[in-house]
Amino acid sequence: MTDLSRSHILTSLGTSPDGLHDAEVLAARTQHGWNEIPMKKPSLLALFLSQFKSTMVMILLGAVVVSLAMPYLTSHTEGNETLNAFIILAIVILNAAFGFAQEWRAGNAIASLRKLSGPEARVRRNGTVSMIAARELVPGDLVQLEAGDRISADAVLTVASSLDIDESSLTGESVPVSKKAEERVSTSDRSFLPSMVYAGTLVTRGFGEAVVSETGLKTQIGHITSMVMQSESPETPLQRDLRIVGHRIGLVVLGLSVFIFIVGLLLNRDPIEMFFVAISLAVAAVPEGLPAVVTICLAIGVTRMSKRNALVRKLDAVETLGSVTVIAADKTGTMTENRMTATNVWTIPGVTEEELLQAAASCSRAELPDIGDPTEIALLRAAGDRGISRIAIDEEEVPFTSEEKYMVTVHTANGVKVRYAKGAVEVMMRVAKSSDPLITETNANYTSEGLRVLGVAADTGSGMRLLGLIAMMDPPRAEVRVAIEKAESAGIRTFMITGDHPATAYSIADRVGLTSDGVLTGADLDRLSDAELTQKLETVSVFARVRPEHKVRILSLLQKNGHIAAMTGDGVNDAPALRQAHVGVAMGKVGTDTARESSSIVLTDDNYATIVSAVEEGRRIYDNIRRFILFLMRSNVGEVLTVACSMLLLLPLPLLPLHILWVNLVTDSLPALALAMEPGSPHLMKRKPRSSSSGIFTGEWSLLLLAGAFNAVLCLVLFISALHAHADLTTARTVALTALILFQFCLAYSVRTRRFSLLEHPFANPWLIVSILFSVGLHAALLASPFAAVMHLTFLPFSQWLTITLWTLVTFLVFECCKVLFYRLRSSHDIRLGLTSF
Ligand code: ATP
Repeated sequence: MTDLSRSHILTSLGTSPDGLHDAEVLAARTQHGWNEIPMKKPSLLALFLSQFKSTMVMILLGAVVVSLAMPYLTSHTEGNETLNAFIILAIVILNAAFGFAQEWRAGNAIASLRKLSGPEARVRRNGTVSMIAARELVPGDLVQLEAGDRISADAVLTVASSLDIDESSLTGESVPVSKKAEERVSTSDRSFLPSMVYAGTLVTRGFGEAVVSETGLKTQIGHITSMVMQSESPETPLQRDLRIVGHRIGLVVLGLSVFIFIVGLLLNRDPIEMFFVAISLAVAAVPEGLPAVVTICLAIGVTRMSKRNALVRKLDAVETLGSVTVIAADKTGTMTENRMTATNVWTIPGVTEEELLQAAASCSRAELPDIGDPTEIALLRAAGDRGISRIAIDEEEVPFTSEEKYMVTVHTANGVKVRYAKGAVEVMMRVAKSSDPLITETNANYTSEGLRVLGVAADTGSGMRLLGLIAMMDPPRAEVRVAIEKAESAGIRTFMITGDHPATAYSIADRVGLTSDGVLTGADLDRLSDAELTQKLETVSVFARVRPEHKVRILSLLQKNGHIAAMTGDGVNDAPALRQAHVGVAMGKVGTDTARESSSIVLTDDNYATIVSAVEEGRRIYDNIRRFILFLMRSNVGEVLTVACSMLLLLPLPLLPLHILWVNLVTDSLPALALAMEPGSPHLMKRKPRSSSSGIFTGEWSLLLLAGAFNAVLCLVLFISALHAHADLTTARTVALTALILFQFCLAYSVRTRRFSLLEHPFANPWLIVSILFSVGLHAALLASPFAAVMHLTFLPFSQWLTITLWTLVTFLVFECCKVLFYRLRSSHDIRLGLTSF
């Protein structure tokens, strides 16, 4: 297409070669709105109502109905069933409101993170090229397209150079279509034209420039997606497991409740009392809140991770990060700063440095100061410093890919056609059919110093001829050395897998402290069998001149050997490796949209050290989820055992359903949430990765029962002695309930660590201490208020509080000793299993 017809197209689409100006953007935005397809958020009402969907709430609502109907069903009533029903209802609503607020906050946190990692577009406005969020595009914007880009709006092509687009998301056709710019713009039907690109499709190869014609819902994909898209977070494996465990426990408890109810009736016990026993048991033991708890912990975690430059795209990655055993990272930008400076220019005799730099700078798509590939930016700078300007590209004959490792562009200089090429030195020697030993030697000298070297060639009509080499310095990131050491002490091995030269890679690996028994290249990998490579993987940590498919092979072998791998990637062809890795990590700065979309985590700073902090954060979150769940389960088991044992001992019921509700839904809630804020243990990165086969409850069942047994014994002993001392059931129940609550607060404190909790950083989590004090205050306030009578409770004098507290503390100390002993005995077993220890 000639420049004239290009500018004709631009004018007919309401723009100019400089792109839109700010005022035009604003006007277009007012007319067309943001370039987005609205996500349907669940309505607030639906979210609130969903809180009532759980089995526990169903049981409770059933209890409300039965309580309300009781006076009409039997004359044998206590007379306060209606009141009971309303209190249960009030507590259920309070709990739903609490759950609603938490879920809403968690959902918002996750949604705002999604926005942060959303796609971007490279656009020319006011004469300069810049990156903007894709939602800011308006019709008339002049966008540039490169391999790996996800196209964000429908647009008419004005330039297409070897441009291939994967339109499978629109048409289902998986073979990429090749596109070309046409001189006439279709104004009516704009669907599936070869001269247009469409939102939602992917650039697989080449370069293009296009004028946005439609945005948002007016795009082809906007029409297809029936106006709205559901924003859903799929359940993580942990949430799924917990839902299943929850269901199973629920069923067992329901069976148990019915069984106890029937046995009680057979033993001639009061049916109403038996009914309450059954309800108490069900309420005590159904751990319905567990999956929601995980969401909350994950939401807190992903927010913290985003502050440490890791944006989580798939929630399950947070869980998986905790068990990562290898990190396979790129070199350029990940271990190095990606701030390249051309340090050496070497030319073939007879070629001037100016000629070489002009060729290198022209064969480039980057724009100064910082748009595009950092390697190309370094070349542009080196040329700019000597006052050399680039020659515009007419056509991109061979676009750069990590597989080919070189690129060729066509230009017109002073009316003469010229082809420029640049790329990896050995590739350029092949392209230019050169075997000059001087080039090989110079290249070896530069690479051994850790420099990145490009060969540059030109063809002015008599075939491609090498002009020389340009060596670039990309300093290693200062923090990487420490991060590699940290990963090593956490039992995680680091691999460097790069497209760069083996000598450059080895030199950088050496500087960041990555030990490796030599370097394996892509060519070596092709020669080795799977068995041989598996063996090499034991000692070799640096891989160079690899292609994306080599990454997949290394990954598969590591995974076959039981490794949990985090792998980084940035290019279009890294997508398979990113998808296959347990945790695919994409580069946020230099990564393509394709890489980002295939990843679980996006690094906003592209830094290797960020992956290590994300692993640390992942371990912390998993620990906290575990703490949270173990606390709730230990508490629930205590309640079930208290009620069940009282039945066996033919005692009156020590805890009414209302009391258990009060504990589970009110007093335990805040300390449980505070556990999600527990800071990382200092041992976090000193222990081995968690075995992926170990679950939350692995190795915990015995302690769960032990904690429950201590809880039940404490409550029942205090209940029986209070019954004897006061002969008053209400006082005895108040004593039992208060002991239960205090003991559970001790359990919340205890679950923080496997060591002796009172000595292990006792004040490290102020949230927990404040929430426990607040909840104790709340319970004391209830007992002192008129509501105490409504809840079948009574005021307790200070002396009684003191006695209960003392007994609780003594029981807790004995329990703590048993716990520490238990974990000591288990520790060797745990190390073998790779279990988490707080
Ligand atoms: P990593 O895989 O660690 O990110 P990398 O950037 O070296 O490393 P690639 O982008 O696949 O990996 O580059 C491979 C080789 O291709 C480089 O070593 C270099 O020789 C050459 N190369 C890189 N960028 C360009 C470019 N823009 N134009 C031409 N050749 C390039």
